[in-house]
Amino acid sequence: MIDKMIKANKDCMGCHACKNVCPTQCIIMTPDEEGFLYPKVEYSLCVKCKKCISVCPIINKARIVNNPQAYAAINKDEQIRLSSSSGGIFTLLAENAIKDDGVVFGAGYSEKFEVAHKSVEKIEELCELRGSKYVQSKIGNSYKLAKDFLDSGRKVLFSGTPCQIAGLNSYLNRSYENLITQDFICHGVPSPIAWRKYIEYRETKAESKVSQVEFRNKDKGWKQFSVSFIFENDIGYSKNLNEDLYMRAFLKDLCLRPSCYDCEFKTLNRQSDLTLADFWGIEKVLPEMDDDKGTSLIIVNNKKGQEVFNSISGNMKFKEVDINEAVKYNSAAIKSVNYNPKRKEFLSALNTMPFNKLVDKYCDESFVVKFKRRARRVIKNALK
Ligand SMILES: Cc1cc2nc3c(=O)[nH]c(=O)nc-3n(C[C@H](O)[C@H](O)[C@H](O)COP(=O)(O)OP(=O)(O)OC[C@H]3O[C@@H](n4cnc5c(N)ncnc54)[C@H](O)[C@@H]3O)c2cc1C
Repeated sequence: MIDKMIKANKDCMGCHACKNVCPTQCIIMTPDEEGFLYPKVEYSLCVKCKKCISVCPIINKARIVNNPQAYAAINKDEQIRLSSSSGGIFTLLAENAIKDDGVVFGAGYSEKFEVAHKSVEKIEELCELRGSKYVQSKIGNSYKLAKDFLDSGRKVLFSGTPCQIAGLNSYLNRSYENLITQDFICHGVPSPIAWRKYIEYRETKAESKVSQVEFRNKDKGWKQFSVSFIFENDIGYSKNLNEDLYMRAFLKDLCLRPSCYDCEFKTLNRQSDLTLADFWGIEKVLPEMDDDKGTSLIIVNNKKGQEVFNSISGNMKFKEVDINEAVKYNSAAIKSVNYNPKRKEFLSALNTMPFNKLVDKYCDESFVVKFKRRARRVIKNALK
């Protein structure tokens, strides 16, 4: 069955399609020592229907050919835009679906700040999904729930990584007029254990539990975004992407899922209706659309995507751009990151070393960056 077909962990991207399709619920998504979930079959319950094999989007490749159109876009609602990772376009799509009695699926936090997919049906609840969470989101039974809504005639907007959208399409195994799928340009998804260890490290430092997390705080700008925490004792933490320990490990590709290093969903022929991204390089491509508060790249992949784009166009400022120009500064659109040879060692050491020591050891820094960081620490201590 599926756990025997997917031989190497690097092939399975953890989409949960096999778990959702199994008629006897004999597939349990089980974390490996790095914290990534893989299917394990409970053979005493398995009826050998092989649905888990025929649903797997890695075993059964979809052939898609698109003629994508690209746009630089900004949500006209300044508050929503500032609380979103890029230009706040996800919220426009979600509001559009909810106003039409739709349901929106996306990644949110649990009480312990684990990341998992959930659905919301009210505009006030969209803040639970808004913003990028740089951790692999657990799909759980979201595909099944989405199918129930679709079969009952409700509109569904499903947002996720390209591999999660492939898993959903494969699970549904037919097209639905009332389904809109939206993926994003994805760098790769980090290990939930790395994220948990980092939260524990920050909580120890703050001597308090986390009450709020933002991966993409724009207080100091969109391009140099910060990772921010607020703790129950009201202490705050905020460091920019080059200084925050977790982001340093993420951007050095030390903690991504094995499949992310050879991701077959990095293509312009996408399975989603719409693809969202940060419009990196906007200052060169369309400087008039850059105020460092966040500009989205929207890639319209098909006719349905174009219809949805048209229906939200009144609420955004946008300009069409050449697709090749649009992805020129965003290689994650079409290319997997290189495997970091220190990755395995880094993830194994998570249990034995404090997070700061681990990142210092495995994230090489230039002399200048190291010097600046040390100098700042010395000055801070002296001032104390
Ligand atoms: C792990 C990850 C890697 C990314 N890598 C890149 C990249 O290399 N280049 C680039 O241009 N953009 C990347 N993005 C996308 C970008 O950060 C924004 O999410 C996107 O531009 C949409 O922004 P927005 O302002 O429209 O909406 P936002 O409100 O910021 O988008 C939120 C949407 O993203 C979904 N989401 C958040 N976290 C996750 C998650 N862990 N798994 C699945 N869905 C999630 C939410 O469900 C919601 O639908 C990445 C996002 C994530 C989560």
